[in-house]
Amino acid sequence: MQIQKVGVVGAGQMGNGIAHVLALAGYEVLVNDVNEASLGKSLASIDKNMDRQVRSAKITQESKAAALARISTTVTLADLGASDLVIEAATEKEEVKNAIFAALLPHLQPHTILSSNTSSISITRLASRTDRPEKFMGFHFMNPVPVMQLVELIRGIATDAATYDALHGVVTKLGKIAASAEDFPGFIVNRILMPMINEAVYTLYEGVGNVRSIDQSMKLGANHPMGPLALADFIGLDTCLSIMNVLHDGLADTKYRPCPLLTKYVEAGWLGRKTQRGFYDYRGEVPVPTR
Ligand code: NAD
Repeated sequence: MQIQKVGVVGAGQMGNGIAHVLALAGYEVLVNDVNEASLGKSLASIDKNMDRQVRSAKITQESKAAALARISTTVTLADLGASDLVIEAATEKEEVKNAIFAALLPHLQPHTILSSNTSSISITRLASRTDRPEKFMGFHFMNPVPVMQLVELIRGIATDAATYDALHGVVTKLGKIAASAEDFPGFIVNRILMPMINEAVYTLYEGVGNVRSIDQSMKLGANHPMGPLALADFIGLDTCLSIMNVLHDGLADTKYRPCPLLTKYVEAGWLGRKTQRGFYDYRGEVPVPTR
């Protein structure tokens, strides 16, 4: 099937990035958010991020203008009814996502594919609450979307081959690479990445190293482009904790228990870059380790 119109639900950091890459690839994009202010902010940040790509000669001023002209916004979810594909990228709460799909379903065309950018919620369970589990898939972009090459494609138990092929085609058109993952907690990337980050926090908690030595060890000793604690701050410590909880609950193995120090940072509201403090303090000129 031909996908031309894409609806994106949620204009946060992921929704912005997804709208950005879709529009550059030629799709017509309609972005929805409950919060009108988020929609305005979203367009401004897409504009700014595209400017950066123009400056580094990744795109031209003309392709930027054409892409921006393909993006529109709405606070009315029903407006997404004409979409060929809907990508849900709202807050990571199952009840929020279920409510979005329930409100959207009466307005959709029969051929519309539904997808979720969830990092951790079961695709099979989300799909089972809709009228089209065979046309429902996990479509997991990485942050920041315009930069990261990978998209995980997650089939629910009922997802049909045509839906998989259609989303695989979108990934190719975006110039990105797809990896197929089965629908188990954390899929592939977070199943491997989050326990490593959690272990880095345990290493800090037990005093084996401090923030600087742990990050330096993994950068210089394992050739990671960013240390695990700096990466955790970038992702958001609340997000890291909630994914560890999903792994712990879903796989019922104590090896996934979240580090108490990670919980403590989240309880303090030190969530990383977005609150200006996490394993590093970002309020000054340069990030300063908090331990
Ligand atoms: P975010 O908090 O930046 O944005 C979420 C947006 O959803 C907000 O603008 C909020 O107003 C909006 N929203 C909430 N309820 C809504 C509703 N009922 N209808 C429409 N919009 C609604 O979150 P994010 O980091 O962009 O994450 C979004 C999704 O992407 C989550 O499922 C998350 O797990 C997933 N994800 C996040 C990352 C990451 O690194 N942040 C990476 C991959 C996937």
